[in-house]
Amino acid sequence: MTQNQREELPIDVLFVGGGAASLAGALHLNRQAKKNNIDIEIAIIEKANEIGSHSLSGAVVDPITLKELFPELRPESFPFEAPVNAEKMYFLHKSGAKFGFPYIPKGMSHHGCYIASLGKLTRWLGQKCEEEGIDIFCPFSGDEILYDENNSVAGIRTGDRGVDKNGAKKPNFEQGVDIKAKVTVFGEGTRGSLTKQLISKFNLMKDSNPQVWAVGVKELWKVPEGTIEPGYVAHTLGHPLGNKIFGGGFIYGMQNNILDIGLVTGLDYSNPTIDPHHELQLLKTHSWIKNFLKDGELLSYGAKSLPEGGFYSIPKLYVNGALLIGDSAGFLNGMRLKGIHLAMKSGMLAAEAIVDAFKNEDFSEKTLSNYFKYFKSSWAYKELYKARNFHQGFKNGALFGMANAGLALYTGGRGFGFIDKLEGHHGHLEMQKITDKTQNRYKDLKFDGKITFDKATDVYHSATKHDEDQVPHLKIIDPDLCFDKCKEEYGNPCQHFCPASVYEIVKEENKERLQINFSNCVHCKTCDIMDPYQTINWVTPEGAGGPNYYPENIAACEKELKNIGATQAIMVDCSHANSN
Ligand code: SF4
Repeated sequence: MTQNQREELPIDVLFVGGGAASLAGALHLNRQAKKNNIDIEIAIIEKANEIGSHSLSGAVVDPITLKELFPELRPESFPFEAPVNAEKMYFLHKSGAKFGFPYIPKGMSHHGCYIASLGKLTRWLGQKCEEEGIDIFCPFSGDEILYDENNSVAGIRTGDRGVDKNGAKKPNFEQGVDIKAKVTVFGEGTRGSLTKQLISKFNLMKDSNPQVWAVGVKELWKVPEGTIEPGYVAHTLGHPLGNKIFGGGFIYGMQNNILDIGLVTGLDYSNPTIDPHHELQLLKTHSWIKNFLKDGELLSYGAKSLPEGGFYSIPKLYVNGALLIGDSAGFLNGMRLKGIHLAMKSGMLAAEAIVDAFKNEDFSEKTLSNYFKYFKSSWAYKELYKARNFHQGFKNGALFGMANAGLALYTGGRGFGFIDKLEGHHGHLEMQKITDKTQNRYKDLKFDGKITFDKATDVYHSATKHDEDQVPHLKIIDPDLCFDKCKEEYGNPCQHFCPASVYEIVKEENKERLQINFSNCVHCKTCDIMDPYQTINWVTPEGAGGPNYYPENIAACEKELKNIGATQAIMVDCSHANSN
């Protein structure tokens, strides 16, 4: 190899992204290949330092797919926190009142499900992969999709490392590697940067509703013994989002007196000043919620976007040489607020199509399309089909949406109007221009440092780190838009919708500029999704950068917090932030 020649790594099947979908897919593929006496070399690349550290903790998991993947294990052997043992649904009023729903319909119930830390679950799956001989490469991020002469996907190029903020090579420079694969499986999570390119290049959403997202912002708290039992699940509607904004709150009880509180905000709201982080803080001002937290301590914070569009927003799942799985492909049931079991199932179904491809020695769409056939005859298809009009039903408000969802349970998913398919919409196009009449929802919100926290303090608790001497991974395609147009039309909503204070309008000598504190980024992708001009492009940072959601880090974070002081620490981070 000459000095400038790029290193190539040939592999049979490459999974891009080490989340639950890829890990389940790789395990199933490995076993199915062995069963069929086919030798398939499998690798997974993950942008985080370790599997699980970018997986946001605290979820209710339907164990159906884990049971399929590990039929020999009982659910007690899975790394769950607790079985769901109490399920509540409340409508909250800002006055402090709360109204319980008399019962939770079967289609929305969490009966038989488990509370899990997604970080723990993915790490456990990662260990299973390694025990079975699957290679996992961390931290490696996909930078570019490779195509062969026939325009078939031929693998990916990993990002260069050791490049400074001006694009110059540092002494530790390492050129990215071309990982050439017969099949590349994109399981990058929501709004994957390579997946986005693939969908656009092959127009994979042509026959689908536009994908629409929500962002979940959550905090983990240590609360006194007896405050919440492991296995307690409550979902809330009403305060603070009200009728016009899609979404709701949740509280889960985990082991060791850890409480998980969060709020999902639909990324199709109209008020450009909506701030999902602030909405979570407002939720915590409700007296019922305050009661849970009043003697507790904030441990961890994070945010993640969710593909909420449902069944009709699933793109075409295959192209020559590649498949889409998990959140990247929109496998999430918004009605149940669950996607982990569907993501894992999609990985397994993709694995079965890949085995067919190796049997036929055909890696084109012709054989890879079996993935869709298998999906069509699976329980995952039936589950998603029944919830197909869920999010779209909220177009006319939460009350209408809930009524539509309730009716859908008895009409096989149709809902009001008995329409098979409600049309979808692009969430960012719902944003209205800012006017004097735009409501300031946060004028009375105070960050008391006990129950409510400013973004800087919360971001500190996500243990997010990026090497600051690198090219920022947030690309503004047309920076002139920011002050020429966006400020006037929408009031620079990026400073509000980003839950990590990445976008900051800084005043300097009577001029304003947009400062991008990219080192704060928790990789939720909200900016890439919700920018009204679609001018923000999120790409993977240099490997290892990002949040660190491991439960073990909670203790470290707690200790460090006590030693340093959260606000001070985040100011140190921000002071080195790059600007644009
Ligand atoms: Fe999320 Fe974008 Fe903010 Fe990063 S910069 S935390 S991806 S909204």
